[in-house]
Amino acid sequence: MRQGTSVSAARILVVEDEASIADVVARYLRRDGHEVETIGDGAKAMERLQEMNPDLIVLDLMLPGMEGKEILRRVRAAGDTPVVILTARGEELDRLVGFGLGADDYVTKPFSPRELSARVEAVLRRASSGGGAPVSSSAGVRIGDLYIDGGTRRVERSDEPIAMTAREFDLLYFLAQHPGQVFNRDQLIDAVWDVHAVSDPGTVTVHIRRIRAKLEPDPSRPRYLKTVWGVGYKLEP
Ligand code: CA
Repeated sequence: MRQGTSVSAARILVVEDEASIADVVARYLRRDGHEVETIGDGAKAMERLQEMNPDLIVLDLMLPGMEGKEILRRVRAAGDTPVVILTARGEELDRLVGFGLGADDYVTKPFSPRELSARVEAVLRRASSGGGAPVSSSAGVRIGDLYIDGGTRRVERSDEPIAMTAREFDLLYFLAQHPGQVFNRDQLIDAVWDVHAVSDPGTVTVHIRRIRAKLEPDPSRPRYLKTVWGVGYKLEP
């Protein structure tokens, strides 16, 4: 039971090899009502991330297995899961910011767990306020074996979570809210992209292909995300 105000319970992965720090961070975040896992090895964290698809990652930079910076780079390449960095003072931070790797926030060790918890809440609140996502409804949609939850932005097939980038999710969720209805690529760009940023309909094709690769049991013969030749795409109810 949470007593806080702000955001709803989030699933958080804490990647930190110093057990005492990981424990105290996990304890504070659980007290805030979140579901928390800790992991101390960078390479294992990377594997776990793909299965867990957390709402937020607390990431130490100096890790065995794979360094935090590389994890952050891969997380960013895959989507926009919020990341809060833990770093020793001066350690890598300037370069990290310089490289624009895109952490959402950071705290410098030694830190107060209360401060970290406040940063995490702020980042979660920012993330859940949408960041320009076009979909405001939070209803879950069930289509065949798929479950697409607009509130938590989770996709599952047969109860197995499927990791999606923000844009892939937006596109899928838009189609899922209009099952069976066919949209051409320009309509999908209007619905899901910032039209001023994207004008190439090929972008839609690329995203459709990526979603199929993740979603479809046989991407070459889509069960869900169908092409209607000469017209566009639809999600088969
Ligand atoms: Ca460390």
